[in-house]
Amino acid sequence: MKQFFKKLQSLQFKLVIIYMLLIIIGMQIIGLYFTNSLERDLVGNFKNSIESQVAIIDTRIKEINDDVGDNRAEMYDQIQTLLADYGNRPDIEEIRYINADNVLIGTSRISNESLVGSRINDKLSEDALNSGIVNDEIFVNVDKDNQRVWILNQPLIIDDEVVGVIYVESNIEGVYVQLESINNIFIIATFFSLVITSILGIFVARTITKPITDMRNQALLMSEGDYTSRVQIYSDDEIGQLAGSFNILSKRVQEAQANTESEKKRLDSVITHMSDGIIATDRKGRIRIVNDMAIGMMNLDISAEDLQGQDMLEILKLGEDLSLENIIQEANESHLIFRDTQEGVITLRVNFSAIVTDTGFINGYIAVLHDVTEQERINAERREFVANVSHELRTPLTSMRSYLEALQEGAWKDEEIAPKFLSVTKEETDRMSRLVEDLLQLSRMDNEAEEIQTEVVDFKLFINRIIDRFEMTHKDDVIFTRHIPDAPLFTDISVDKMGQVLDNVLSNAIKYQHGNPKRVDIHLKQNTLYNRMTVRIKDYGLGIPSNKVERIFERFYRVDKGRARKMGGTGLGLAITKEIVEAHNGKIWANSVENEGTTIFINLPCEVIEEDEWDV
Ligand code: ADP
Repeated sequence: MKQFFKKLQSLQFKLVIIYMLLIIIGMQIIGLYFTNSLERDLVGNFKNSIESQVAIIDTRIKEINDDVGDNRAEMYDQIQTLLADYGNRPDIEEIRYINADNVLIGTSRISNESLVGSRINDKLSEDALNSGIVNDEIFVNVDKDNQRVWILNQPLIIDDEVVGVIYVESNIEGVYVQLESINNIFIIATFFSLVITSILGIFVARTITKPITDMRNQALLMSEGDYTSRVQIYSDDEIGQLAGSFNILSKRVQEAQANTESEKKRLDSVITHMSDGIIATDRKGRIRIVNDMAIGMMNLDISAEDLQGQDMLEILKLGEDLSLENIIQEANESHLIFRDTQEGVITLRVNFSAIVTDTGFINGYIAVLHDVTEQERINAERREFVANVSHELRTPLTSMRSYLEALQEGAWKDEEIAPKFLSVTKEETDRMSRLVEDLLQLSRMDNEAEEIQTEVVDFKLFINRIIDRFEMTHKDDVIFTRHIPDAPLFTDISVDKMGQVLDNVLSNAIKYQHGNPKRVDIHLKQNTLYNRMTVRIKDYGLGIPSNKVERIFERFYRVDKGRARKMGGTGLGLAITKEIVEAHNGKIWANSVENEGTTIFINLPCEVIEEDEWDV
């Protein structure tokens, strides 16, 4: 049913209805004009034929009048005879002659002959007698099957005097029957033309509505997001051009859609793979887009889907300090937030910005999260380093200054004290030079200005030579035990730098040991599987508290500040050592038990020489 009503509302149906209405109106106008003209003609012809007969009778009566003179009876007889002739004429029902006294003189109808001589009370005849003007009218004869009759009253004028009236009653029904049958033909023709035009109309309307229906279907598909189908072009008329334009439009929309899609994908992939965390919200600050990085940075256990619609400032835990209005007012300002993660506390810098449309309307907000933990750590380290350097330089400088002041104030004259004071001053100067030298070396390594020049050496020979040197200088107080394989062990190192590393570690092993004799064990082991070797230098000295072992490689870190300084250490030795080892792709670490001793491990790459290579 619904379908049917829908069909009634369709353009095709409306077009067919318009066709039919046009046909009906056209046929009506034609029909009206045609039947009117036809009726006028047919009725006119009919009347003319009757009138011509009346004219003959008129002439005949006038002749009778002339012939008989004043003999009225004779005249009436002749008129009656004349009229009786018209008794059987087709169309003519009755012809009467009524004299000036309104008395019936003669009639063509036999049944009315009895009325001859009596007065006639016919209004129209009277009017014609009185006025001398012809009148006529069509009546419906109730007695005779409702047939129409035409009554004509023509006055008979002799010598400008109305002497009587010729009354004619003619059956005009035949004319109307004829008209009716023509009308019927017309109605049937109209009906058939309506049927034919409506059938044709359906087809013609379809040729118009088909492309429009296609376009409508296409528009519906487009509204559902399908831009691939195209409308068929049936002709080169306006509708065809419209269909063509429609196809171009849908192609453009398809392209624009594809562009938007690819832009969106690109944006999504940029957002997903960004090293910064991104949170985008609607204008009420509810999260709409959030990338994995942001979730990871904030250490949240929630998926991106679950974050949808949540308040951004609440999630960032900035809700108490900040509102969306602040974001607009404090554009370009950043906020630091801290999050606990498995790797420790991380510092995030959050920058907010508002998405403002051309009209100034705020569409949403964007928060960019940047992990600045490393940067903050470097900043803190840098501050600490500067503080350490200042401190390290101030101590010898203060000490030197006090000795120099004492000398200035007269101690220089004292032959006993003066040399002591001067030697202390020299020691402090040496310490400062060492410190500056160490700092320079660290700075060079930091800037990577110093490229290490490497060469392939037999590490076994190299380490033995260094231990030999130490044995020479510590002949009496240190026992060096070597666990070094006999086979050569080739490695690509900077002899100078690696010498410095071993020097530093061996001297620390001796420096932080009180026993007599001191003992230092040196192990060298190759791990052929991984092309690596490990040097292990073990002492039996003071050791390092376990919680501080890790820190001995930090710059300026000393376990016991006073004692280390007394021993001439700058606190930079192991830091430089670590840098050098790492520059050789190596690793350095320590094991220590307080009061029992310390072991320093140095792991370095080495070259494995296959057996057959020796044969070459
Ligand atoms: P320093 O020049 O002061 O020796 P290092 O960087 O060489 O500086 O060493 C850092 C700190 O590590 C030392 O001050 C010391 O406290 C500790 N340390 C280094 N090696 C040993 C060791 N073999 N035994 C005990 N403590 C050590």
